[in-house]
Amino acid sequence: MSEFSRNAHKLIEWLEKYYETVENYPVLSQVHPGDISKQLPQTAPEHHEAFDEVLADIDKIILPGITHWQSPNFFAYFPANSSPASVLGDLLSSGLGVQGMKWLTSPAATELEQTVMQWLKKMLDLPKSMDGIILDTASVSTLCAILAARERTSDYQTNQVGFSGQQLRVYCSDQAHSSIEKAVRIAGIGSKNMVKIKSDSGFSLSISDLKAQLENDVQNGYKPCCIVGALGTTSSGAIDPLLEMGKLAEKYDAWFHIDAAYSGTAMMLPEFRKTIEGLELAHSFVFNPHKWMFTNFDCSAFFVRDKALLTKTFSLIPEYLQTQHIEDELDYSNWSIQLGRRFRSLKLWMVIRHYGRQGLQKKIRGHIQLGEQFEQMVQENPSFEILTPRMLNIICFRFLGDGNHSEDEITLKNKSLLDSINKSGKLFLTHTELDGKYCLRFVCGQTLVEERHVRQAWKTITELADKL
Ligand SMILES: *Cc1c(COP(=O)(O)O)cnc(C)c1O
Repeated sequence: MSEFSRNAHKLIEWLEKYYETVENYPVLSQVHPGDISKQLPQTAPEHHEAFDEVLADIDKIILPGITHWQSPNFFAYFPANSSPASVLGDLLSSGLGVQGMKWLTSPAATELEQTVMQWLKKMLDLPKSMDGIILDTASVSTLCAILAARERTSDYQTNQVGFSGQQLRVYCSDQAHSSIEKAVRIAGIGSKNMVKIKSDSGFSLSISDLKAQLENDVQNGYKPCCIVGALGTTSSGAIDPLLEMGKLAEKYDAWFHIDAAYSGTAMMLPEFRKTIEGLELAHSFVFNPHKWMFTNFDCSAFFVRDKALLTKTFSLIPEYLQTQHIEDELDYSNWSIQLGRRFRSLKLWMVIRHYGRQGLQKKIRGHIQLGEQFEQMVQENPSFEILTPRMLNIICFRFLGDGNHSEDEITLKNKSLLDSINKSGKLFLTHTELDGKYCLRFVCGQTLVEERHVRQAWKTITELADKL
């Protein structure tokens, strides 16, 4: 056996043991800033060091500084779940070391990506005319959407001559993800021209407010450029009135982008998919298989109604990249910002083939069911309250104590509850604010999570709350 093969076996065995024992580690790393770096040499080694020594350092130095995203006790943020099939797919991608900027630079990389995106489109029942590309994150997918919207609105002039007088505006709800504002800044539109429309009592965008804002803006000389709808907000999973937003986008000739970064995966379930309307009005749609589809970070699936809208924005081919058959639309580098591209479709392909569509649906349904069980346990405890009806497997809740506390006291109690939960190492939760109320957020979408982990998590939460 070669050294490569021996080491690879050792590493896979290391990972196997890691997954078997990951639930025993403190979920949130308990180190302090500098703890890891002070154990590492300040200069690079001059000579070869053995793989075994490196592996030993991983156990000793690196592992204590890991927050265990793959732990079944990780209920924070949104998951970035993974699976053995995905890890092997990523390993193969690294091993092949392919750079898939153009069709020619590895035809299989382009064609597998096209195929897997078509699979996903059908699995989520997205509009037939859509085509997809894999990007690194939803942030970058949304940036591509906003850049393409900017070009569409300016008749492809901003790329050529910069901004010239048009006052563009982008609209989303006050619950929208920060990546939208970041994209608006990077695109040169400016935060001032991003209008955050008030959300209603269910934390979805208020359509009457959007309507009024658009009318008012047009009267005042602004040009609506893009409307971004959330299919599952980050705080609470709320879904914006996408159909009505799409109609308004059409009326004002604005781009309509849908951010479904987390909840998009649940569109594989017909019972959820049928509750979603308006996708046929979207110019673009993004969701992250790297959140809830067992495909390790990074892997964001970005779909667009008409791929020419992207290539007209991003295509710029210097002489040294000219090929005989210039197939702008076939070369994925003409669809987005970066030139070089990883072979990410391999891991997604392996995941989908490993589970099958029905296997994935079963996992997702299981996670939603666990969310339901958690919600029920919270509801049955009078010392706690749920802040907004559960969406899928996202539960926003807070501790009320004996019911005799002011809002400020409740907030302080919940802050210290969160702190003691995360310091316990037994589980990891994060928080949000809904309607001005600080609350804890429980999301259960881990590959390895089982009912016992959810029950144990609730037991820990209530025990720690009792001690407050
Ligand atoms: C997580 C999330 C994002 C950002 O995802 P990245 O891939 O980390 O950029 C954007 N929008 C929503 C709704 C999210 O939940």
